[in-house]
Amino acid sequence: MFNIFDQLNDQLLITDQAAKTQFCNAQKSIVHQHSSEKLKRYQALEQELQTFLSIATDIHAILNEHLEIISCNNGFQNILGWEESEVLKKNYVEFIDYPDAVQIITAINECKASGQVATDIAKCKCKEGKYKWIEWRGKYIANKKIHLLTGRDITLQKEQEEERLAKREAEELEMLKDEFLINMSHELKTPLNVIYMTLQLESEEIKSALEKKGQGIELNILKRHDKIIQRNVYRLLRLIRNLTEIAKLESDEYRLNFINCDIVSIVRQISLAVVDHMQSTKVKITFDTDIQELITACDPSAIEQIMLNLLSNTIKYRKDESKVRVSVTVKDNKVRVTVKDNGIGIPKTELEYIFKRFAKIDTSLNRKCEGSGTGLTVSKYLVELHEGSIWAKSQLNKGSSFIFEIPIVQISDEKDIYYGSTSQQIEEKCNIEFSDIYDI
Ligand code: ADP
Repeated sequence: MFNIFDQLNDQLLITDQAAKTQFCNAQKSIVHQHSSEKLKRYQALEQELQTFLSIATDIHAILNEHLEIISCNNGFQNILGWEESEVLKKNYVEFIDYPDAVQIITAINECKASGQVATDIAKCKCKEGKYKWIEWRGKYIANKKIHLLTGRDITLQKEQEEERLAKREAEELEMLKDEFLINMSHELKTPLNVIYMTLQLESEEIKSALEKKGQGIELNILKRHDKIIQRNVYRLLRLIRNLTEIAKLESDEYRLNFINCDIVSIVRQISLAVVDHMQSTKVKITFDTDIQELITACDPSAIEQIMLNLLSNTIKYRKDESKVRVSVTVKDNKVRVTVKDNGIGIPKTELEYIFKRFAKIDTSLNRKCEGSGTGLTVSKYLVELHEGSIWAKSQLNKGSSFIFEIPIVQISDEKDIYYGSTSQQIEEKCNIEFSDIYDI
C-alpha cells in the first residue's frame, strides 16, 4: 500500500506543500481505515477459530521446536483427562507411551525435514492411569518454528479391530485344532489298524493250527506278521516322539546337550549305517568330503536325527534307482551338510511349506509310503537350536537337495571328543525312522 502511494507521490511530482500535506493526510487516513478493518476481520476470525477449537472433539495443540506444548484446546482434558495447566510447557512426548514415543519423534523429525504432514498412531497416557489410542497429525511451520498438532481418539475403533483380530485368531486356532485332530486320528488309526488286522490274522492261523492238531504254524508267516507289527509299532513310536518333540520345541522346553564332536565322523557313520539298513533296496548312498575331521560343539543325537530324517526321505521319495550323495563342506566358519537325491522332487510352490507341521505333498491313497509330515518340522527346530539354518532346493522329477548349516564353535574347557553312536544304537534309530517305508 505504501509503495503505491510513494509511487503516486513521485509520479504526480507534487510541489505544492499544502497539497502535499493534504495528500499525505488522505493517504494516512486510508491506510489507517484499511488496517483497522483488517484488524477487525482478523479479530473476528480469531474469535471464530477459538470458538471452533473449544467445541472441537479432537485435541489441537501448538508445540515449540523442543516439542513443548505452548498452546492447546480442551481436547487434552476431554479425551485424556489432563487440564490445560497440567499440559502447558510440558513436552508432548511425555503423554505418549514408550515405544510409541520413539516412533512419534522419528515421524515428527522426518516431516520437519521434508515439510510433509506427519501422521502416526500412538498409545497415550490418560490422567487416571489408563491408555487411549490417538491418531496424531502434525505439521511444522518453518517460519514460526512451531508444530501444529491435532489428535483424534480412535480407541473404540482400535478395540473393535483388536476384538475382530482376536476372534479371527481364535477361529484359526479352532480350525488348526480340528485339522490336528483329523491328522492325528488318521496317523494313529492307520498303523493301529494294520497291527489289529495282523493280530487277527495271526490268531486265526493259531486257531486253525490248533484245530488241525499236530500241524504246526508256518514260522515264515509268523515272522512276516511279526515284522509288520514291529514296523507299525515303530511308526507309532516315531509319530509320538516327533509330536512330543514338536510340543517341547514350540514351548521352549527342549534342551540340547552340546558336546565337542567330530561332525564329519557323525555324518559319515550315520550315512554308512543307512546303507547297511537299506541293503534290500536299490539305494546307493555316497559320502563325500575333503575334511578329515571337524570338531564343533553340537548335540550328536540331534544331528543324527536330522540326518536320519533327511536320508529316510531320500528313500521314501525315491524313483526306481535311488542315488544319494551326502557331503560335508566348510564355509564362513559354518559347517554345511548337503543331502542330495535323484528322487521325485518337490514342486516349487510346495518348497516353502514342507518344513511346516503335517506338510505332505502327496496325500493320495496310492502313495509309495506313509509319512506324518512331522520329520522336517523337528529337523528345522533342531537345526535352529544350533543357531543354524536348513533349506531345500528341488526340481520336479529330477531330485532334491536338503542343506543345513551350523556355526563352528568349540567348548574350550572340554577335552573329550564324541565320534558317533554305536552301530547298534544307530540301527535302533533307523528302525524307528524308516518305519514309514513299506518295501524294506
Ligand atoms: P514325512 O514324515 O511325511 O516324510 P517330512 O516332514 O520329513 O514328513 O517331509 C514333509 C514332506 O516333504 C513329505 O511328505 C514330502 O512330501 C516332502 N519331502 C521331504 N523330503 C523329500 C525328498 N527328499 N524328496 C521329495 N519330497 C520330499
